[in-house]
Amino acid sequence: MNKPIFFTAGPSQLHPIIPDAVQKALDTQIGSISHRSAPFQELFSETRNMLKTLLQIPQEYEIFLLSSATEAWERVVENTVERETFHLVNGAFSQKFAEAAEHMGKTVQTHKAPDGKGFSASDIEVPKTAELIGIVQNESATGVAVEPDLIHSLKRTFPEKLIAVDIVSSAPYAKLDYSHIDMAFFSVQKGFGVPAGIAFLVVSPLAIDKAKHLAENRKAPVNYHNFQALQKYSAKNQTPETPNVFHLFLMHEVLQAMLKKGIQTIRKETDEKADKLYSFFEHSKIYQPFVREAKDRSPTVIMIKTADPAEIIKTAKEHGFMLSTGYGPYKKDHIRIANFPSHESDQVDKLIKILHNYEHETAHKKTSES
Ligand SMILES: *Cc1c(COP(=O)(O)O)cnc(C)c1O
Repeated sequence: MNKPIFFTAGPSQLHPIIPDAVQKALDTQIGSISHRSAPFQELFSETRNMLKTLLQIPQEYEIFLLSSATEAWERVVENTVERETFHLVNGAFSQKFAEAAEHMGKTVQTHKAPDGKGFSASDIEVPKTAELIGIVQNESATGVAVEPDLIHSLKRTFPEKLIAVDIVSSAPYAKLDYSHIDMAFFSVQKGFGVPAGIAFLVVSPLAIDKAKHLAENRKAPVNYHNFQALQKYSAKNQTPETPNVFHLFLMHEVLQAMLKKGIQTIRKETDEKADKLYSFFEHSKIYQPFVREAKDRSPTVIMIKTADPAEIIKTAKEHGFMLSTGYGPYKKDHIRIANFPSHESDQVDKLIKILHNYEHETAHKKTSES
């Protein structure tokens, strides 16, 4: 049998250029270069520049290399918040972001929406004392995406507060206006199709200033990934520690391929594949999109309610397609399907066909049993 295709929510299918990139990394001995050498500086600088171009991040923003999005939750809070954060929570990942702030000893307030629902700007009351608003733009546990405009409007209403956005399962698709965002972060094993092990944190000048102010007043911890250390090395196109150079190189190669394709094409293809999947599920008798309102549906993580996920996942696997179960309490009656740039349109068609045949066969079985 052919290698399976991972339509899992993350880690997910690797980008098609990864095998060549791995070979190139070995050929060029990238795993042995010093992180203080010119070749590393060039690699790091080019990678960050390509990210800025792909996502249209303002030139004056910093991009730091971290080890995971989980780390980013902590670094963001630790470096830029003295006392209080405010979070939009509508699922397990946005909840975890809020809990990370709690574990860092901050006062945490939340605005909650039920699982599967989005937020409406008029319902959100941001506490005056909150220094940072934490948002998970794409809630991977439920398949809800937050409208970028809602995020931008929060910045317009509260320009002095820091807006921190988790884009782990929506980057590079999410079309954000970074002039209205202070921090955004993602790990690479979802939408970028790179093996897990690194993450990027985008930081605005306002957030850098806040971190500097807290550090000068000894209100931020001194550790190797504090913003001052990251910024000091960043100025030299370096990192404080010996980083995961190998995966940084793979990311460099993926970004090159993505820029060649163009972000508009990537977004358009993602929308087209999402439309195919959602319209199939909407017309099905055994699968229902968990998110009722079309405007709240994530194009990149699609959650489906269905009676027998284990059987469906098993059937798809037999055909070479890996799917995810629901997350946490949704495990027993939901599946999740990722729709990232590494998932090709004809693979989506094949997956739909398999799910369609499964539905057809179960209906047939039921009729012959009764
Ligand atoms: C997967 C995921 C994370 C965690 O990413 P790690 O790389 O495992 O730290 C955080 N937020 C969201 C929305 C995710 O989907």
